[in-house]
Amino acid sequence: MSETPAPRPISRRGAIGGLAATVGAVAVSSVVTAAPAHAYNWTRTMRRGDSGADVRELQIRVAGWAAASPSRTFIAIDGSFGPATEGAVRRFQSAYGLGVDGIAGPQTHTQLNWLESSDGSTRHFAWSEFHSRDGSGFGGGRVGTATVRENVRRLMYKLEAVRRKGGNNACIINSGFRSIRHNSNVGGSSNSQHMYGIAADIRINNRSVSQVISYSQTSGFSGIIRYNTHTHVDSRVEYAYGAQSWYWAV
Ligand code: ZN
Repeated sequence: MSETPAPRPISRRGAIGGLAATVGAVAVSSVVTAAPAHAYNWTRTMRRGDSGADVRELQIRVAGWAAASPSRTFIAIDGSFGPATEGAVRRFQSAYGLGVDGIAGPQTHTQLNWLESSDGSTRHFAWSEFHSRDGSGFGGGRVGTATVRENVRRLMYKLEAVRRKGGNNACIINSGFRSIRHNSNVGGSSNSQHMYGIAADIRINNRSVSQVISYSQTSGFSGIIRYNTHTHVDSRVEYAYGAQSWYWAV
């Protein structure tokens, strides 16, 4: 059941539609080791009280472990390692079978990087799954292409947590980013969070909509909407793109 880091092929996913590969990407290590080729170069053990760009990246990666039970809370991506970040690190460690101490040391670094793909996406999701379905990639939204891409990257890490809570069954993206045009074509709301790259409509194999909702309620999502066959999740409060109130229609 437990998945542990192991060497893997560098690339298995499609191109990212001509986007500059460095846009929104995290720093990469130039050191040749057994770690993934494009793993984030964590340089220190991080604990409560620390701050910096690496803490910020840590927060992005553990944001889906925001709470132990349904709770309207999210991990602020502010580069400051406080109690909320520590709690998320603890839950992340527990979920992956690591020693639970709330301190991001070498074992936690390795597990965090195991979740990262060489193209900057995450292990179980591909950029293309989140592209606007009208062929516009990450363009034509309410924020610029690079911002959409970074928002999608952060969304992917939250969805990695949801997927993990769902027993590692496949998480299918029915809709990710939508261009303004595409959102209009599919009848999306005029301020749909999909147009910013912070929303996804998902389902998980072998899990009910109710189960997916319960996982989402501990994963830092401030927008959760139940549909017959899927669940909409977004981070509307965290990003404040014109919809800053919690909205759980579950
Ligand atoms: Zn949606």
